[in-house]
Amino acid sequence: MKMIEGYPEYMYESIKLVEAKRHENISRQVKPMSLEERERILKRFHPDYMEGTKREVRIGIDKGKLMYNGIVDLLESRSALDTKEIDLTRIDFDVDILIIGGGGAGTVAALFANDSGVPRDRILIVTKLRHGDANSMMAQGGIQAADRPEDSPVIHYLDIYGGGHFTNKPELVRALAMDAPLIIKWHEELGVMYDRDDEGEFLELSGGGTSRNRMHSAKDYTGMEIMRTIRDEARNREIPVLEFCPVVELLLDDSGAVSGAVAFNIETGEYHVIRAKATILATGGSGRLHLCDYPTTNHYGATGDGLVMAYHVGANLVDLDTIQIHPTGDAYPDAVIGILTTEKVRGLGAIPVNKNGDPFVFPLEPRDVESAAFIRECREGRGIVTPSGMPGVWLDTPMIDIIHGEGTIEKKLAGEVRRFRRFGINIVKLPILVYPTLHYQNGGVEINARTETRVPGLFAAGEVSGGVHGKNRLMGNSLLDFNVFGRRAGIYAAEYVKKRTVGKLTLRHIEEYNRAVEALGVPPERKAPIILPEYRGKEAMARALDIL
Ligand SMILES: Cc1cc2nc3c(=O)[nH]c(=O)nc-3n(C[C@H](O)[C@H](O)[C@H](O)COP(=O)(O)OP(=O)(O)OC[C@H]3O[C@@H](n4cnc5c(N)ncnc54)[C@H](O)[C@@H]3O)c2cc1C
Repeated sequence: MKMIEGYPEYMYESIKLVEAKRHENISRQVKPMSLEERERILKRFHPDYMEGTKREVRIGIDKGKLMYNGIVDLLESRSALDTKEIDLTRIDFDVDILIIGGGGAGTVAALFANDSGVPRDRILIVTKLRHGDANSMMAQGGIQAADRPEDSPVIHYLDIYGGGHFTNKPELVRALAMDAPLIIKWHEELGVMYDRDDEGEFLELSGGGTSRNRMHSAKDYTGMEIMRTIRDEARNREIPVLEFCPVVELLLDDSGAVSGAVAFNIETGEYHVIRAKATILATGGSGRLHLCDYPTTNHYGATGDGLVMAYHVGANLVDLDTIQIHPTGDAYPDAVIGILTTEKVRGLGAIPVNKNGDPFVFPLEPRDVESAAFIRECREGRGIVTPSGMPGVWLDTPMIDIIHGEGTIEKKLAGEVRRFRRFGINIVKLPILVYPTLHYQNGGVEINARTETRVPGLFAAGEVSGGVHGKNRLMGNSLLDFNVFGRRAGIYAAEYVKKRTVGKLTLRHIEEYNRAVEALGVPPERKAPIILPEYRGKEAMARALDIL
């Protein structure tokens, strides 16, 4: 196939139209949709509203609740742990606070538990891969906080609540909005380098569905900058981290409280029994389940393990009947399918246009609505189809330099520029092709504002938890979420361990759960948590061939 500047020749007919209409498009933007229009497009084109994507779970505390099929498959599986292999009288690690997950929420929780008086050697972070192999490290666009005179946490609250279709838990939204300025101040003290203007003030952009510019960013690698800083802080304090040791199940004691966990050491093949007075679940999301066959932006460890383990001990789950697909996953070239192009690109002025070069949606609708509009364009034949069959619409990146001046893209979107340059595409001059990608687990383990779950001894923070964002999260609120609720988890778990004694450890709940699964008649080979995603076999092949 003949290629021109990184794109197949046949796409140039469309690129020429995009170029010809570029200046006119900058000045004639599509208006935001009314609430009724949003509802209408969501119902027709978003997977949350499609038939066949979800079913009722038949087991456990949430029996009868509707969840995505891939999540129900996990919950209706036998445990991946063979309890006969575990000797609970041999304790390998005995700590006050066990933190499961070495991403943002886990690291912040460790720092605040330590600040709240728990000695560093009474804390243990256990993580699947390396400390920082996490969605937190990959976050690009920014973090929201209402910290300017023309803004306020109350307006931030309203944006979060509206974005979540008014389904969020109000006490959690309140915590998220109110703690946000404090988090940015803490980051500044630790040395996070947010973008600033010439006067030294924060440069704050807007995101989809937000009514004020309150997104703080560090170019297009905000997550890496935050994660680098907090991980350094944890390392400086010498907080112990057990790497390459995914946790496979939680332990209960004879009072029914969560009392630690069993981890599997990938390097040695051994199990480790970890006894703890409080356990903080910070295992992140589940993008690697590829729900509805979507590609994903997520890191390889995002397999929903925390949901499964929490469910096995009786914690309830909320809002798992929704997923967040991010409108601008890369659709071309094939090597980057599903990888995120940050919302900041639209925040800086780039407009999505169809194959005729026409804008078709306000660029900063909430993510679910924006995604639905992209899917509509492709389904109705106004998208581009790549040689491998991937559909997409154009995101007209060259607009950014026209609006803000030459060099802006290179300066503010350095990561994006580099990613496409590897394939011969210069995003300063040419648009990029995008299509929705599975990005975020809106729901999860229900918590309260103290990050407590309904099971004593078990706290949860970050993407694994549910209730904060309701049925749709807005941009920049998840980096905020892991900081706000990671901090709270550290503080409240530290308070909890002062009066906690641990009884006799047990895994009886797993044996009972396995018996209940067996009664459902599901195939015996289905086991969860899955720990790492499956990229072999029939299902993986079908996914590659059946994106639409
Ligand atoms: C590409 C990308 C860009 C994003 N951009 C933004 C943005 O600009 N702004 C924003 O607000 N949000 C953004 N997000 C979302 C945000 O980054 C995440 O939701 C958030 O960082 C999640 O933090 P977390 O600590 O809960 O989970 P993670 O950071 O994913 O950490 C979870 C950790 O738990 C570990 N783990 C999982 N299972 C187990 C197990 N069984 N045992 C032990 N450890 C386990 C994982 O390996 C990982 O280390 C983005 C996400 C992605 C993927």
